[in-house]
Amino acid sequence: MKEVLMINVDELWLKGKNRPQYFRAIKSHLKDLFKKSHGVSTTIINVNQRLVATSEKAFARDIQDRIINVPGVHSICLAEMAPLDLEEASKIAIAQLDKMESFPKTFKVTCKRINKQFDMRSMDAAREMGAILLRHYDGTENALKVDVRKPQVFVDLKIHRDGIYVSTEKRLAIGGLPWGTSGHLVTMLSGGFDSPIASYMMARRGCKQTFVFFYAYPYVGEEVKEKLLDMASKLGEFQRGSKIYIVPFGDLQDLIAKSCKEEYRTLLFRRIMVECSTELASRIKASALLTGDALGQVSSQTLENISYIDRVSKLPIFRPLIGFNKIEIVNMSKVAGTHDISVRPHDDACSLFAPKHPVIRPDLEYLKEFESSFKYEDAVKNAVDRSEIYAISSIGEVKLVSDPIE
Ligand code: ATP
Ligand code: MG
Repeated sequence: MKEVLMINVDELWLKGKNRPQYFRAIKSHLKDLFKKSHGVSTTIINVNQRLVATSEKAFARDIQDRIINVPGVHSICLAEMAPLDLEEASKIAIAQLDKMESFPKTFKVTCKRINKQFDMRSMDAAREMGAILLRHYDGTENALKVDVRKPQVFVDLKIHRDGIYVSTEKRLAIGGLPWGTSGHLVTMLSGGFDSPIASYMMARRGCKQTFVFFYAYPYVGEEVKEKLLDMASKLGEFQRGSKIYIVPFGDLQDLIAKSCKEEYRTLLFRRIMVECSTELASRIKASALLTGDALGQVSSQTLENISYIDRVSKLPIFRPLIGFNKIEIVNMSKVAGTHDISVRPHDDACSLFAPKHPVIRPDLEYLKEFESSFKYEDAVKNAVDRSEIYAISSIGEVKLVSDPIE
């Protein structure tokens, strides 16, 4: 019996003439994963805008778990192929249902007839299959009922030229657009809940990302770095290969703390982080920055402070969480798989330097004055030069590629 993995794409149907380019991107991401996680060679073909993967070996849960994290994939289902005959197809459906951990009470058959030579229309084939299954289980302890609105199980048939693909388990994936088709961002990653979710959301929108963490070395311990590397490894699973730059930030924090009014420290730390991220973006040809800001969440995220940062930033700053409540972000982190890393406690150098009363409505005149006297260009370049850089593979392997910090 031939087993295939059906990979349904998400928004690619919206695309016009450039659709092949999107398919190429998603296919190459999938191929990379199969190569790293599945072991044996896998063929992926496009059948009516659906990707069908076949290989010599069964598709283990592990590779399926990875594929549902590929941006652009809407859902997957493991299907087995029957000859072009509904009775034969029903045997497969029954075997799959019987194997289920908890037997369903209700089901619905869905059917798509791609092969127009098949002598039954989709609706009729679905109805017929439903009738066969009802008959089969009738009077047994597993008596089934049809529920077209909220069935516990979908029995899905895809009638192709070479046979009928039958599947009873569909898993939803993260959806959106394939990796790299929406440009390259520098993602400012801190240790909390927000920035990883910002990254997750923009990964779904097809953004390639390079992560940057401002490491308040020597004011915080090594565990912070470990935490960030674990987070980058997790977020790397939504990328087709990425990097994290650990930028030494202690010297810059010192410099700012000495040069500005105390209440402006947090805002100006953020401003210099943006400056360093912009410098990094120009080196790696990224075209925008990404942060986990949510309006009003903390003092540096008041409308006035965000406006100031935007005014001085040379690159657009994406803030996908701007209108989200914290609880929504925490809930999303459970879905994205970042929650258990975010929840780990870590030292935060910003609080070490934190003013008692951080500015909420900055005096723009003061900031202008500060900007004209504070020369930070060399310090910014120097900090980025001293970054420790790690590569992250599509399955989350982290490897040091450059370590100049001191
Ligand atoms: P998180 O956003 O990860 O939950 P947080 O809420 O503690 O952490 P804030 O102080 O709210 O972070 O900072 C707002 C945004 O600024 C973060 O979402 C992140 O994008 C960026 N940022 C803050 N600190 C750092 C840092 N040390 N390195 C990189 N980016 C940072
Ligand atoms: Mg935050």
